[in-house]
Amino acid sequence: MHNPRKTLKKEKILTGDRATGQLHLGHYVGSLLQRVKLQHDHEQTILVADLQGLTDNGFNPHKVSSSILNVVADYLAVGIDPQKTTICLQSAIPALSELTMYYSNLVSVARLQRNPTVKSEISAKSFGSSIPAGFLTYPISQAADITAFRATLIPVGEDQLPMIEQTNEIVRKLNHIAQDDILVECRPLLSKVPRLPSSDGKNKMSKSMGNSILLSASEKDISKAVRSMYTDPNHLRIEDPGQISGNVVFTYLDAFHPDSVYVDELKGRYQNGGLGDITIKKILEECLQDILNPIRERRKIFMSDKAQLIDVLRVGSQKSQEESSQVLNNVKCAFGLNLISG
Ligand code: ATP
Ligand code: MG
Repeated sequence: MHNPRKTLKKEKILTGDRATGQLHLGHYVGSLLQRVKLQHDHEQTILVADLQGLTDNGFNPHKVSSSILNVVADYLAVGIDPQKTTICLQSAIPALSELTMYYSNLVSVARLQRNPTVKSEISAKSFGSSIPAGFLTYPISQAADITAFRATLIPVGEDQLPMIEQTNEIVRKLNHIAQDDILVECRPLLSKVPRLPSSDGKNKMSKSMGNSILLSASEKDISKAVRSMYTDPNHLRIEDPGQISGNVVFTYLDAFHPDSVYVDELKGRYQNGGLGDITIKKILEECLQDILNPIRERRKIFMSDKAQLIDVLRVGSQKSQEESSQVLNNVKCAFGLNLISG
């Protein structure tokens, strides 16, 4: 008998992480948890973005090459299943670089300079007048990654919203040139924590800023990070009323504690006075240990079998090459540059 559910196509997801270090708690709540959930009823591809990692590490490539398998181990340790999710390596899929070349002709330098995430990253990285061309143009390569897989749903943190906007601009321009909808627009999927701050509350937790609590953090590392967390500087004595807003411990309790009713109760007690910083930090530390201890242990096991990690990437990259080369052919045809190939 015909089963209509079987013929329904699963929605496509593309997301990824730069190979610039190990993954951290920001990735966990910002995107990884969603990916683990979505992999069951979506066609999900996750890209280890090593080429994008090079855009600000061209003279320090070891940082990128040594991060690739660490990122794959992080994926597997949080529960991304390579049988359900395609995990691939950006540099192993030439169509992505080729698409970037084609799209580059549709985007002005001024538009790239206006991208708010690129703008703030450029100032944070203190490039001065030596901004690598690859760095300025990385939103174009992200557009290539997303469109190459015909992805329509992108689970990301808040910092990626401008990239999705730029991707959709490129999609519309290309479809206009092709006079056909050869590329599809995509939409972001933000988690309940789209931007996890670092322990000092000042910046986004980022691999490159060295302000992260890694998924591989030891019990000691976790304890140290929580102890140094920014709270309310005016909350000097336990009986003083404390501030919740801007208090990183409560931001993290909201993000990670499984019992939101209990967290609300703690907030009330803290605001009224009578709850000390040491107590709330202890509660947070326990909660983070509970989440990270099993991840760290699984991660260790995955890292001890590098051949398996490489195999996951090889299989995923092969599948991705086939998929992305079809989109590349369509783009070449749109520009009329398919005289020999395509
Ligand atoms: P880098 O400093 O090298 O840019 P990163 O820590 O910013 O590294 P990315 O690889 O750039 O990590 O980002 C991968 C994904 O994780 C993106 O979807 C991004 O939005 C999300 N992400 C990164 N950091 C956070 C965070 N602190 N909170 C929420 N989501 C985050
Ligand atoms: Mg980043």
